[in-house]
Amino acid sequence: MKLIENFDLSKCTTFHVPARARYYVEYSSVDELRELLAMPVLKDLPVLHMGGGSNLLFTRDFNGVVMHSAIKGIIFSDVTDDGDLIATAGAGERWDTFVERSCEAGYNGLENLSLIPGSVGAAAVQNIGAYGIEFADRVHGVHVYDTVEHRERLLSPGMLDYGYRQSVFKHDDVAGRYIVTAVSVSLTTRPEFHLEYGPLKELGGNDRLSAMDVRRRVVDVRRAKLPDPDVEGNAGSFFKNPVVEAGQFADLISRYPDMPYYPLPDGTVKLPAGWLIEHSGMKGASVGGAVVYEKQCLVIVNRGDATSSDVVLLSRMVQDEVRAHFGIELYPEVIFVK
Ligand SMILES: Cc1cc2nc3c(=O)[nH]c(=O)nc-3n(C[C@H](O)[C@H](O)[C@H](O)COP(=O)(O)OP(=O)(O)OC[C@H]3O[C@@H](n4cnc5c(N)ncnc54)[C@H](O)[C@@H]3O)c2cc1C
Repeated sequence: MKLIENFDLSKCTTFHVPARARYYVEYSSVDELRELLAMPVLKDLPVLHMGGGSNLLFTRDFNGVVMHSAIKGIIFSDVTDDGDLIATAGAGERWDTFVERSCEAGYNGLENLSLIPGSVGAAAVQNIGAYGIEFADRVHGVHVYDTVEHRERLLSPGMLDYGYRQSVFKHDDVAGRYIVTAVSVSLTTRPEFHLEYGPLKELGGNDRLSAMDVRRRVVDVRRAKLPDPDVEGNAGSFFKNPVVEAGQFADLISRYPDMPYYPLPDGTVKLPAGWLIEHSGMKGASVGGAVVYEKQCLVIVNRGDATSSDVVLLSRMVQDEVRAHFGIELYPEVIFVK
């Protein structure tokens, strides 16, 4: 465990924009984490946890300590007579390795969340979601180190306050207090799959369907739709899908009858931000090396030499155009680190 000074972050984030951290350090156990937290430098400087850097945009050099978990390990509990089990993974595991290992073992529950970049720890912070399933639907508990009480704790689902890309970890009064060390999810061997989302629908009606079959389909669809961050830097969906009130929706759909939408149980309606961006005329728009991805306008890509200022400026232009066309405010899903 070594503090590295003046660390180049561009290779550790999927946007690959230039930025440096004053210090970077990796730990591989809770004991090492405890030791690290006792170092004076961590008391004097801002601290940021980073997993795979796939949802972060460093808007400037970070004058603090970037901490990275390398806590590994994946454990499956015994399967109950009903076919249920608990799977636990260290925060430093790649999320998709956890999904793949679960599917390979024939344990169902995570397959829709295949190929989402990043770490297990961040999945719990972000409440990652795709194809109709969120982390919150599977969570059994999140193991954390509490930096206020200086002890390990297990946060139960009721304490996690999950919402759309929201969690207790993002509450202003809690931010930075909990460091995720491992997560536990509930899985099953029963053939319970969620195939309501478009490209998965055609898998329905197959009695012999496995988690691996669903995973393969999700992986194929995602590869066709989303840019590979190793080829073109990006952080996935740049903006959250906006939610509008019924009145505003009625007005919008009368003006744009082709607009896709998803009614929510509380009467509000979720709209696809990518469609709004495309129909604001921003497809392919660019600032320097930052470009609104042509195949999926919800993504901003780094075409090789983008700076964080290019990305920030382009994202503001997108927000302005969507506001001007639709009267809707878009909020970033990507976290801007200042
Ligand atoms: C191509 C692409 C596709 C994507 N598709 C999706 C998708 O379908 N659905 C989706 O939800 N997201 C998606 N994302 C976004 C991203 O993959 C998720 O947000 C992911 O959970 C981020 O993981 P990370 O390890 O890279 O986290 P980072 O970006 O490093 O960090 C994210 C947040 O988690 C915090 N954090 C990280 N580790 C810890 C820890 N151990 N303890 C406490 N806090 C921690 C960080 O401080 C930060 O606030 C996509 C991204 C890309 C690049």
